[in-house]
Amino acid sequence: MANPDPKNNQNNRPFKLPILLLIVAALVLTLFGNRILDWFLSSEQKEVSYDTFLTAVAEDQIKEVDIGEEYIKYILRDDEKEIEYYAYRIPDSDISDVTNMLRRNEVSFQGVYAEEGGSFFVNWILMPAIMILGLSLLMRLIMGRGGEGGGFGGIGSIGKSKAKVYMEKETGVTFRDVAGQDEAKESLEEIIDFLHNPKKYTDIGAKLPKGALLVGSPGTGKTLLAKAVAGEAHVPFFSISGSDFVEMFVGVGASRVRDLFKEASKVAPAIIFIDEIDAIGRSRDSKFGGNDEREQTLNQLLAEIDGFDSSKGVVILAATNRPEILDKALLRAGRFDRRIIVDRPNLEGRYQTLQVHTRNINLADDVDLKKLAQATAGAVGADLANLVNEAALRAVRQGRKAVNQEDLLVSFEVVIAGTEKKGTVLTDIEKRIVAYHEVGHALVAALRKHAQPVSKITIVPHTSGALGYTMQMPEEEKYLRSKQELLTELETLLGGRAAEQTVFGIQTTGAANDIQRATELARRMVTQFGMSEKIGLMALAATQNEYLDGQAYMDCAQSTAADADSEVQKLLNGCYETARALLQENRSLLDEIALYLLQKETITGDELMAYVNADKLRLKGEIGEI
Ligand code: ADP
Ligand code: ZN
Repeated sequence: MANPDPKNNQNNRPFKLPILLLIVAALVLTLFGNRILDWFLSSEQKEVSYDTFLTAVAEDQIKEVDIGEEYIKYILRDDEKEIEYYAYRIPDSDISDVTNMLRRNEVSFQGVYAEEGGSFFVNWILMPAIMILGLSLLMRLIMGRGGEGGGFGGIGSIGKSKAKVYMEKETGVTFRDVAGQDEAKESLEEIIDFLHNPKKYTDIGAKLPKGALLVGSPGTGKTLLAKAVAGEAHVPFFSISGSDFVEMFVGVGASRVRDLFKEASKVAPAIIFIDEIDAIGRSRDSKFGGNDEREQTLNQLLAEIDGFDSSKGVVILAATNRPEILDKALLRAGRFDRRIIVDRPNLEGRYQTLQVHTRNINLADDVDLKKLAQATAGAVGADLANLVNEAALRAVRQGRKAVNQEDLLVSFEVVIAGTEKKGTVLTDIEKRIVAYHEVGHALVAALRKHAQPVSKITIVPHTSGALGYTMQMPEEEKYLRSKQELLTELETLLGGRAAEQTVFGIQTTGAANDIQRATELARRMVTQFGMSEKIGLMALAATQNEYLDGQAYMDCAQSTAADADSEVQKLLNGCYETARALLQENRSLLDEIALYLLQKETITGDELMAYVNADKLRLKGEIGEI
């Protein structure tokens, strides 16, 4: 899911105080429990002297006596209130006189082993129970987890899944609400048909897969797709998040899984959606550390998947962005053997997503969603939904009735690059450096054949920390990139630093991010794309996680790694020199554009190209100075 789970946040805070009180109460009970219990149980007590007791015996006033090791407890014959009198025994005094006398008076008496009544119950049952209760509450508190559903409900309700399973009778979401993702939809079509009419399949004897795994980055619409499947098939939608299963008490997760399947099969056909399945379905080898609770939950899940009768029409959809860490057992045939990739949207997909989300929004005439889609390469569905909403809010703030293109573009920057900080003051010299730095990037890109066109240059600082930035826009979606293009990208990235050095002869911290990105790219060229002569076609790094962040780890001898480092360095240095040479050759153009940017703070790609093209004509001698 794109949103951070709000339930978890609510849980802790409000219930800490009651839990604390309970712990204090448990401690008090543990320490003074006996006294308190006595106080409650017995009617009334009075301490008297031994002497008073002896007198009472002598005068035959006593009805009943308990003789303990330390004291004697008795009740008087004519006392309706049955007050218990205590008399402390005198050490070493001989009790036999007393017992003789009691016998004579036919008073019932008995020795008492433990000094206080009811103590077996208190000492062996109540106290341990209270202590366990207190300790477990203390642990919960320490682990930062309140009971779900409030207070201490969690303890009383172990085994009952409450609150965390969400059920929607009708999701109301259809494929029309999911933009793009045509391949995923196609794969899910069959499941919908199956849910509509299980009999058609079972009559032939066909077995449908019990589950499908939706794989893709966060915010690409996996939850939305699962809901749409339920909506299209008009079946109930049960959802639970894998991270909800990770509970404190061993056994809770497993019983929750059991309940979930029981509930779902009661109302079958139905969809069960398990978000973040990697939280429970992680591989059981110890690489990620063992966890009993998780393993139990996983085992229960596997048992349920194997156990239920798919002909009834329960289909499990699970979502993850890390399929590679899932336990192999989950992916075995008959379980989640279908994998449906939910990709980041391409240009067309983004365009359609924007259309879906602007369906109910008043758009001004100047809105060009196509252009916006072009500018948002890499954004996922959730980003775009967010962007459109921001734009609508902006329009309302400014008292307009419709959203215009500027709202959308500004919101794009809010969502992608942080809000514009108009108030941030750069000194004049800083501003000049930033301007040259950004124009350095832009000009290198503009002068090279293989570069992606620049769409915007700005020196207005953003909250994200960037003092300015140059935005490039690919003309078309590209899946393959040549070495030449990657080299140009390196030159463009290093163009900022090259400009600082060329114009001011200084190096600033502003280039840190550029350098990091350039290094990453160069490293991939060397270690993964086989683009350096020395290393050749050998892959030195393997990608660990394609769907989340694509991090790679090195997988080669140390000396090879050192060679790779020097190749990376060579690449970077070469590209930097090219960028510097290019800027030196075009120094006057660089100055012109930087000056213009300083005046306007933000310029478009078209304005940039106007300068560049005019310069070309001037060089050819076709027009004079402007
Ligand atoms: P995931 O489960 O993959 O993290 P979600 O399904 O929760 O992502 O998506 C979050 C939100 O982003 C959705 O509620 C929806 O508004 C929007 N969204 C994501 N993908 C799409 C899409 N393909 N079409 C329309 N909206 C989308
Ligand atoms: Zn830069």
